[in-house]
Amino acid sequence: MARPVNITMCSFCGRTRAEVRKLIQGPNVYICDACVELCKATLEREFAAETARTVTKFRVPKPAGIKAHLDEYCVGQDYAKKVLAVAVHNHYKRLLHQTKSTQEPDAKSKHKEVDIEKSNILLIGPTGSGKTLLARTLAKSLDVPFAISDATTLTEAGYVGEDVENIILRLLQNADFDVERAQRGIVYIDEIDKIARRTENISITRDVSGEGVQQALLKILEGTICSVPPQGGRKHPQQEYIKVDTTNILFICGGAFVGIDNIIQRRLGSRIMGFAASSQNIEDVLQEKKQLIHQIEPEDLLTFGFIPEFIGRLPIVTVLDELTQEQLVSILIEPKNALTTQYIKLMEMEDVKLEFTLDALNELAALAIKKGTGARALRGILEKLMLDVMYEVPENKNINGIKITSQVVSGESKPILSYKQGKAAA
Ligand code: ADP
Repeated sequence: MARPVNITMCSFCGRTRAEVRKLIQGPNVYICDACVELCKATLEREFAAETARTVTKFRVPKPAGIKAHLDEYCVGQDYAKKVLAVAVHNHYKRLLHQTKSTQEPDAKSKHKEVDIEKSNILLIGPTGSGKTLLARTLAKSLDVPFAISDATTLTEAGYVGEDVENIILRLLQNADFDVERAQRGIVYIDEIDKIARRTENISITRDVSGEGVQQALLKILEGTICSVPPQGGRKHPQQEYIKVDTTNILFICGGAFVGIDNIIQRRLGSRIMGFAASSQNIEDVLQEKKQLIHQIEPEDLLTFGFIPEFIGRLPIVTVLDELTQEQLVSILIEPKNALTTQYIKLMEMEDVKLEFTLDALNELAALAIKKGTGARALRGILEKLMLDVMYEVPENKNINGIKITSQVVSGESKPILSYKQGKAAA
């Protein structure tokens, strides 16, 4: 029987106000609480299926493939690359496994309900050894969003500084606010060693606040639904939050961990007082120091000032070595986008042939080692070295060649220019 037109009723199911608990009014429409529930359930089902489809489509890259890609951009650090490649491979396998278990319950029973745990990674290595580069290159090779944060800027909630949610906000921004993509991204947290609790007399200026930040980070490392303020900054009660699940975000933390070798040495005690102890050779001592750091155990991180729960969230620990002079030379010429090739390209655009002698490259690497900031120093040194010629070349169309020798690098001579008319000048 038709209902009278002047009765307010749900525009979807036709029930009247009296027949439902709540009737919500829109412009010329009504919807009842039951229909809202039904719509919600339908949407959730469809979104879940959509997510599952996207994740299944995501192919799991093989470790050798990942490492080969890292090799193109990063020199040395073979061990760290291998560890990262396997960890990332397993991480994405885990994602696939989860999806399959929810999509096909049979698949789960085949694997006896094994839950593969998330494996965030801790990279320990000196400044400028390639920690950030590795994390960034990984993200690029996997085509997932990537964000870098600095642990020193973070504070526990309620203090001056950044909230940990801002880490996720940065990832979300880099994913163009595509929540689903952000949820599969990679976050690199730099300077993680700076949030160690410093009760062990290393410095009296640091206090227990490091522990507060560790606590704040714990949840997002483990996996939680994070409410992210879309504009960043402090949370505000009136603000709408975006909900991001951090369960499948891979966190890579990095730091130099200065002094951790002493902690390892103390733990190992007399067992490592090996060949270097009696040796006067600095090379031997450096070599032993290098070996030492590879023997790192979770308890060393505990002594360094990390709380056990935090260490537990970073089950994969790998060490990057200080780069040798030879490796620094390779960094200058070998990787894709190597520094010298960038300058050569820039000069090519001016029809000028730029050339670095092998001695010059060695001298550059030696200078970088003296600065103690690894490969990071190379760019600064090169920028300074090339400034004058970069300034002059666009003005002087007669120049067609520039040679950089070791004397140029050490400041004893100016870059050697050659000219189209054949006259060369220093
Ligand atoms: P950190 O270990 O301090 O995070 P980065 O990864 O930021 O160091 O490296 C600083 C700079 O040095 C980057 O521009 C990077 O390209 C270069 N670099 C560092 N290590 C390597 C490496 N192993 N191979 C190639 N380039 C490197």
